[in-house]
Amino acid sequence: MGRAFVYVIVGGGVAAGYAALEFARRGVAHGELCIISEESVAPYERPALSKGYLLPEAPARLPAFHTCVGANDERLTQKWYKENGIELVLGTRVKSADVRRKTLITATGETISYKILIIATGARALKLEEFGVRGSDAENVCYLRNLADANRLVGVMQNCSGGNAVVIGGGYVGMECAAALATNRIKVTMVFPEAHCMARLFTPKIAEFYENYYNSKGVEFIKGNVLTSFENDSDGKVKAVILKDGTRLPADMVVVGIGIRPNTGLFEGQLHLEKGGIKVNGRMQTSNASVYAVGDVAAFPVKLFGNEIRRLEHVDSARRTARHAVAVIMAPTTGDLDYLPFFYSRVFTLSWQFYGDNIGEAIHYGDFSSGRFGAYWIYKGVIVGAFLEGGSRDDYEAIANAVRLKATVKDIPELKRAGIEFAFRV
Ligand code: FAD
Repeated sequence: MGRAFVYVIVGGGVAAGYAALEFARRGVAHGELCIISEESVAPYERPALSKGYLLPEAPARLPAFHTCVGANDERLTQKWYKENGIELVLGTRVKSADVRRKTLITATGETISYKILIIATGARALKLEEFGVRGSDAENVCYLRNLADANRLVGVMQNCSGGNAVVIGGGYVGMECAAALATNRIKVTMVFPEAHCMARLFTPKIAEFYENYYNSKGVEFIKGNVLTSFENDSDGKVKAVILKDGTRLPADMVVVGIGIRPNTGLFEGQLHLEKGGIKVNGRMQTSNASVYAVGDVAAFPVKLFGNEIRRLEHVDSARRTARHAVAVIMAPTTGDLDYLPFFYSRVFTLSWQFYGDNIGEAIHYGDFSSGRFGAYWIYKGVIVGAFLEGGSRDDYEAIANAVRLKATVKDIPELKRAGIEFAFRV
């Protein structure tokens, strides 16, 4: 048994939602497009899961954050897909793909064929077991990648009020979850191997600001250390975590955010891979001309970085690469994507944005005590990256522009003095 479509998107996350809207706007005919998703709900704005979804009061719930509300655009509910003649196959995993035959086989045994395929399978959370630690299937150990994980986390959190949580990992999922747990009146200890939080992006000085702020909210940090095992009670629930140096931390719950792995499995051996993802050109086309890849799973050339291949794990990149692939498919004269990498996070009442690349020398600016500060990264005499906490919309636009235009820096002390004003002058 089988069905045939002109366009098929495998994966129903952020990129799929933005691709669907772009297809509809470019006039895809009813019955031509099919989206197959393992999740049981229509595409939604995944970043909400570690922010609004975890609030103790008036938490965000679907259908409020279906794509594409995160870009202040239309909210695509299941009804919208129906009205637009887009087949949304939910709760269905694609278990194999054959790019030569242009077919997919779902876990229910259905064969779905396509003329053009968009891979939007995103990524999965890395498990502690992959680092040799056993026991992360205990009922009070949580990961956070999808709605099912978020519902589980909310349930565990609600049973933990006034208790202790240990957050493993100091990246954005760990940081945002720690903030949410503290807001829910849970005592949080964060544990990570690096010397400071958000080590892939923050400088030690930027990290210090956030760590102090978290401390003021009761969150503690144990740095340069890792979890080695769990101590369980007779029901199998974790009651403590044991660290490498022997430290024992009592825990009523554990949240693990130790990175992600792109979901490339269906296509390994069939398409070229790079940087752990599926390699595409500037038109989001893979090594097979009928197959495109977008979002977290795609490794694409970033023009601004001399066409270096990057895999970006950020929502804006998922939205932009998805729209671009559809533009190329529907309007074949479309050129290469010219993308400015952008990443943001919101915790407690803080909010930052980062554009570009964090290579070269970091020059801090602004007033760290007032909560409006940032950094420029300078490489070969030009600005290649910019970070700002507590900026206005105009401020963020200005720093983005300075990076996009690779503004030349002749006088570093003057850049430091001018701070955000430098960006406005570019
Ligand atoms: P996803 O949104 O992960 O979607 C992939 C979809 O494919 C999923 O629905 C999955 O179930 C499905 N799928 C996978 N394999 C199969 C299969 N074989 N068959 C069928 N379906 C399949 N980014 C930011 O820039 N800022 C943030 O503040 C931020 N916060 C985040 C908070 C959390 C908790 C998480 C998890 C991510 C956050 N991100 C953030 C990252 C951002 O959400 C991702 O970059 C974005 O979701 C990537 O979109 P995607 O469509 O590529 O993948």
